[in-house]
Amino acid sequence: MNGQASPKARVGCLATIGIAVLLVSYRVTASFNPFAVYASGSIWAEVVVSLLAFLAAALLMGLLTEWLMRKSVEVGAHRPAEDVICPGCGFPLIQYFSSHGVPIRCPECAVFWHNGPACYNKGMPKAKIVIPTYPCPRCRSKAARNEDLFDGGA
Ligand SMILES: [Zn+2]
Ligand SMILES: [Zn+2]
Repeated sequence: MNGQASPKARVGCLATIGIAVLLVSYRVTASFNPFAVYASGSIWAEVVVSLLAFLAAALLMGLLTEWLMRKSVEVGAHRPAEDVICPGCGFPLIQYFSSHGVPIRCPECAVFWHNGPACYNKGMPKAKIVIPTYPCPRCRSKAARNEDLFDGGA
C-alpha cells in the first residue's frame, strides 16, 4: 500500500526514537532526562536529541490525525472504521485514505467517501470535475443521470 507505514509500525518507530533519546541522554549526562542534554554542553547530543524529538512529534501528529479521522468515521457511520467501504471506489475507507483521499461525509446520503482524485474522478467525465464537489460519487452520478433525463425532454 504505497509504502506508508501502518499505525503499529509507527508506534514501534516512536518507541525506538524514545529509547534512542534516553540512551543519548544517559551516555552524555548519566541520567535519563533528555532535557539535561541541553545543559551538558554536548553539541552533537543536543542536535541528535532535537532531531529525534522533532521526528517523534511529526510521527505523533500523524498518528493523532489518523486516530481523529478514524473516530469521526466511526461515530458518523455507526460501525468500526475498518468496515466502512468507500462508495466511490469500493475500497476500505481508512486503509486507502493515503492514496485515494481523506474521508469526507456526503451531505446528501451521509455516507463517507474519499475526497481525492483517485476516487472522485472514477467513472466520471474528467472535464466535469476540476474541484471536488462534496456529494459522494454515487449521489453525483445519480444527479447527472437525472439531468440527462431532463435534457432529453420528458
Ligand atoms: Zn474511494
Ligand atoms: Zn451521497
